[in-house]
Amino acid sequence: MGTVPECFGSKVFDDRDMRAMLSREVYQSLRQTIDEGKELDISVANAVAEAMKEWAVERGATHFTHWFQPLTGITAEKHDSFISPSPDGGVIMEFSGKELIKGEPDASSFPSGGLRATFEARGYTAWDPTSYAFIKGHTLCIPTAFCSYGGQALDKKTPLLRSMEALNKQALRILRLFGNTEAKRVVSSVGPEQEYFLVTKEMYEQRPDLRFCGRTLFGAKPPKGQELDDHYFGVIKPGVEAFMEDLNEELWELGILAKTEHNEVAPAQHELAPIYSTVNVACDQNQLTMEIMQKVAARHGFVCLLHEKPFDGVNGSGKHNNWSISTDSGQNLLSPGETPYENAQFLLFLCAVIKAVDDYQDLLRLSVATAGNDHRLGANEAPPAVVSMFLGEELDAVLEAIETGKPYKGTEKKQMKLGVDVLPKFNRDTTDRNRTSPFAFTGNKFEFRMLGSSNSIACANIMLNTAVAESLRTYADRLELAHDFEETLHAMIRKTIADHRRIIFNGNGYDDAWIEEATQQRGLLNLRTTADAMPKLLDEKNVRMLTRHKVMSKDEIASRCDIMLENYCKSVTIEANTMVRMARKHIMPAIESYTGSLAAAASAKKSVVPDLPCGYESSLIVKLSQLLDEINAKADELEAAVAGLADVDGIVAEAEVIRDEVLPRMDALRAPVDEAEVKVEKGFWPFPSYGDLLFSVK
Ligand code: ADP
Ligand code: MG
Repeated sequence: MGTVPECFGSKVFDDRDMRAMLSREVYQSLRQTIDEGKELDISVANAVAEAMKEWAVERGATHFTHWFQPLTGITAEKHDSFISPSPDGGVIMEFSGKELIKGEPDASSFPSGGLRATFEARGYTAWDPTSYAFIKGHTLCIPTAFCSYGGQALDKKTPLLRSMEALNKQALRILRLFGNTEAKRVVSSVGPEQEYFLVTKEMYEQRPDLRFCGRTLFGAKPPKGQELDDHYFGVIKPGVEAFMEDLNEELWELGILAKTEHNEVAPAQHELAPIYSTVNVACDQNQLTMEIMQKVAARHGFVCLLHEKPFDGVNGSGKHNNWSISTDSGQNLLSPGETPYENAQFLLFLCAVIKAVDDYQDLLRLSVATAGNDHRLGANEAPPAVVSMFLGEELDAVLEAIETGKPYKGTEKKQMKLGVDVLPKFNRDTTDRNRTSPFAFTGNKFEFRMLGSSNSIACANIMLNTAVAESLRTYADRLELAHDFEETLHAMIRKTIADHRRIIFNGNGYDDAWIEEATQQRGLLNLRTTADAMPKLLDEKNVRMLTRHKVMSKDEIASRCDIMLENYCKSVTIEANTMVRMARKHIMPAIESYTGSLAAAASAKKSVVPDLPCGYESSLIVKLSQLLDEINAKADELEAAVAGLADVDGIVAEAEVIRDEVLPRMDALRAPVDEAEVKVEKGFWPFPSYGDLLFSVK
């Protein structure tokens, strides 16, 4: 490869290529579509398609695909070649504006949650010009939205784009009220920090649980785990370094700004963070990053585990969502400003987020709810399932001064008045200390830390964007009618702080006492599992808010709730079935063989010395036989619980049975197996141990 700047974005049809290959008028018209959401003309689309095809074919592409994000949580693509027969018997490479703008894949095999009757199997994909097309292998990939024939969203991108539009609309109203006439657009940006594990392919292949479920379902704790904290930021092993170099190159070629990489807390755990970008681009790129991580890992003899909790007793993997909002001219609206007016505006946006997080705790929680992430949240390594916010001492003191009308600590002894006072400069370093908060202000952005490593970032940002749009809407409604702008503003900010102070918590989020305080005294929600959280999507206040901003229709909301719960039930059922299979086909026979060999050894010894007690063998045989019986009984119980699902009516009820009956029985089966593992000779145990898995990568 050439130098990084030469290679960066070489596989992306980005602004540089557009400018070089499109006529001035076409380029400007396309830019207006990208920057301002102006509708695209078919003649422009034709010209763009032609240039895109030429660019892609020059780089070896033979096919194109509408690349989209169905509700499976991963990406989908169906390849069509550019070829078209020519009269002389040969082919020419063709690609029209129509093909660029719209595709019609058969939608019948993607989850729709009842939105699309199977007789209307067709769905369509629509080009998202705000996310650049790129080449993967021999295919030009065009980022698209995916809808049913009736126009209902069947994907994650469509509501994400709508939520960005909602936020843009309401934020512009606020900016106009503060006298900003220049800003044309307000966008939200995200930098997602991606955590993952690497294990060797050899070990991975030997574990059905990893292959079918992405996480281990059995496994005794290794003698050494993460106790010594010797992995975090530690020296990166040569094999992992080679993987990271390769990964960076591929990501850079795709225009993904992979920036930092380091070892994480757990052995074999690592993190990759890109430089932030607009949320829909960040979302596309994060999906692509996860895909490429797995591809590159395979080339290095590794498997990249993106599951939230691959190993019990070892930290799981999350995805911190660093979120901010800014204007098209680059003004970060979550950054305290220089003038009193800018500061008042900053405080209003801050309040909008505080109100949004408190009013829609449930939506934020459920936006990250999956069977996998349920193992992480609240497990004393990741934020609890209770949503709260951390602002830092300084900002908190400012808010308190405003709320109580008392002087701000340390400053001149006078009351703080918006529109008059310049806020004290915040020291950014003081805001980033709290690592246990689910939602932390980090100087000029918020870090939402509840996302699981395999989650698409779309859902969390749909909720965040829309909930903040809703706060801004209520503010703008009032301010637009206000006689005295400053008075109204001051009163509104004060009221928000007073009404929503309960959501702000600067202490230790991992502390049990906090969960007690949060739920008992503050009345915050503690939605522990997906089964608890997901049905809240249908609460009237949530439906009202999401439909008001046209982010999701009532049908779309209902279908998403169904799909997510179905996904939860299916994932856990697959895990339960895998456990039973592993226990019966591998683990129980292994224990049996080992006790048999112990018995054989004892009787061989006794044949030489008849009255040898053989206490070691007998006591181990007794213990292992007891465990074997227990495993057998627990496997029966788990099987019965899974079989019982067939009699449950409705997906909400099924999810509850999964939570109350199936998951506890999985734990009950695991316990005797893990106990047996450390008693059975290594050669007999059918699977690589935790120690083998976690310390296998060199
Ligand atoms: P830390 O681990 O200390 O949280 P990192 O540097 O690993 O910090 O990640 C911070 C992430 O936040 C990066 O992806 C970075 O690009 C992103 N980020 C920085 N500033 C902003 C901003 N204004 N808006 C959104 N994301 C941002
Ligand atoms: Mg971070």
